Amino acid sequence: MEFLKLLEHKILDLKSQFNFRSIRPISNGAEKYININGKKLLNLASNNYLGLTNNEIIKNMSIEGIKKFGTGISSSRLIIGNNILYDELEREISDFKNKAKSLVLNSGYCANLAALSIAKNCEVFMDRLCHASLIDGAILIGTRFHRFRHNDLDHLERMLKSSDNHRVVVTESIFSMDGDKCDLVNLVELSKKYDAFLILDEAHATGIFGNGRGLAHEYSLDNDVHLNVGTFSKALGSLGGYLSGDKVVIEYLINFARSLIYTTALPPSVIAANLAALKFVKENPSCGALLLQISDNVRNYLKSLGFNTLNSSSQIIPVVLGDSKKTLMAQEILFDIGLFVAAIREPTVPKNLARLRISLRSDLNIDEVEFIKKAFTLLAGKI
Ligand code: PMP
Repeated sequence: MEFLKLLEHKILDLKSQFNFRSIRPISNGAEKYININGKKLLNLASNNYLGLTNNEIIKNMSIEGIKKFGTGISSSRLIIGNNILYDELEREISDFKNKAKSLVLNSGYCANLAALSIAKNCEVFMDRLCHASLIDGAILIGTRFHRFRHNDLDHLERMLKSSDNHRVVVTESIFSMDGDKCDLVNLVELSKKYDAFLILDEAHATGIFGNGRGLAHEYSLDNDVHLNVGTFSKALGSLGGYLSGDKVVIEYLINFARSLIYTTALPPSVIAANLAALKFVKENPSCGALLLQISDNVRNYLKSLGFNTLNSSSQIIPVVLGDSKKTLMAQEILFDIGLFVAAIREPTVPKNLARLRISLRSDLNIDEVEFIKKAFTLLAGKI
């Protein structure tokens, strides 16, 4: 069939550029140690930043959720799927994020699609490095959509100035591929100046910054971010996304967000796990700070070896190597030493900025940190 030939051609093209991807079975990618092809590897590729996927209390709460309510809800939230655990979880998130109301969706991806639905018929201004889910959300509503240079607020201001529509500014608190922060203090000020609605994706900051409550909380800017987005799939160790904002914002989303309306609700086991994970972070606010200390230590060492870690200032450390081939080679060298690190290539990052992406976790001990340093020292000698 001619069409299949076309697909084959695209695959061959990816392979020739070292950008072909495949998925392989891995015993448990959230664990600190994983096993691939019989080799034990220290896992620096998971977003299980606080190691919560295997927390006994959280697992038991999740099991209780199944025992009490079964394995699934079998309906969308707006029909009959709004299990009572949702209400409890959303009240807890509102308290956690210091917002009037919250809404839980099936993933951070769904939450971002929903978040952008607020901007229909407005003009959207998004940081160039924002996650694909935010970009997809903007595309889905078919509105005018501008991307400003990463963290370049002068560029943003020029764009805001030239608009006479309702403006919606979108950014992330910790950027997922560069591991740096947005300039939230100045961004809030600029958004106020142009009366813009501000959406902040805290996917990688929740559980880590601001006593676990996110970057907006760290800067005492909870009230200045109009819609705070996050996910349960990273530091909180489970699945699901959330949105927190004013009552009218959440009511609007319940009525217009297609990624809420047209899908089955989360299973009770997941909602129960999310409740327990939130409780954990509220009761253990310093876990994130510990992780950031480990991250500073590793990052400073990598810099001393001459690696380019961009402006990373979080638990995500990019090691930019340039092209895809070199990045895959470096990944393999680390693999042989006993480290698993993600190789991030085009189109996730620009063609000449392929990188290893180190994702650290708070349960690393001193020996493991030393092992990471030793592995990168060996890598530096080989590439
Ligand atoms: N936002 C950002 C910044 C992310 O990095 C991700 C996940 N890669 C998401 C949203 C989507 O979250 P989830 O995996 O829960 O769908």
